[in-house]
Amino acid sequence: MIPYKLPYKGKVKISLPFGISGSWACGWHVGLDLVGVGNKTIYPVAAGTVKSINAHGASYGNHVTVLHGDGTESLYAHLANISVKKGGMVTLDSPIGTEGATGNASGSHLHIEIHRNGYRYPPKKSTPANCTWVLNPAQMFGIENKKGVVIGMAKTNEPSAWAKEAWQWAKDNKILDGTRPKDNITREELAAVAWSLALMFGK
Ligand SMILES: [Zn+2]
Repeated sequence: MIPYKLPYKGKVKISLPFGISGSWACGWHVGLDLVGVGNKTIYPVAAGTVKSINAHGASYGNHVTVLHGDGTESLYAHLANISVKKGGMVTLDSPIGTEGATGNASGSHLHIEIHRNGYRYPPKKSTPANCTWVLNPAQMFGIENKKGVVIGMAKTNEPSAWAKEAWQWAKDNKILDGTRPKDNITREELAAVAWSLALMFGK
């Protein structure tokens, strides 16, 4: 099987794991629920062709499926909007739409499903174990299938000791102005750093 990438470019949080039992039509959660932390644009998990749009019922809200080269089909549900057309080719960098809360959703999240050999909703009273065509998206992405897990972010926002020391040095030497310690530097600030280095090394 081809490797699958997370459907977000930025940080993402698991809001509901795959496979837990509950009040769904088949009795268990067929997909994985993800919430974008910041960027809410949804991308395909692999390159492919847009197989269907809003073809699998109103509970999914605005939804898209993508057929991949290995015969698997991925489904992206509850989208706020859809930015692809049926039959269109998509790559890992083609936005499919935006995370939303359309259909049967209590808050903004992406519900993603991955089915081997095409979409097929599991029968009533089934289990993940006897529906082997339904793949565990967390496993496909190589992440932990657990509520609250955040991917793509360090455990704390605290800078390392090295970064703190460097920041203090830049402030003391008036290379940076000492504001916004946790933000990215601006192009002007980068120019100031480069300028200071050039002066330091005698241009
Ligand atoms: Zn879900």
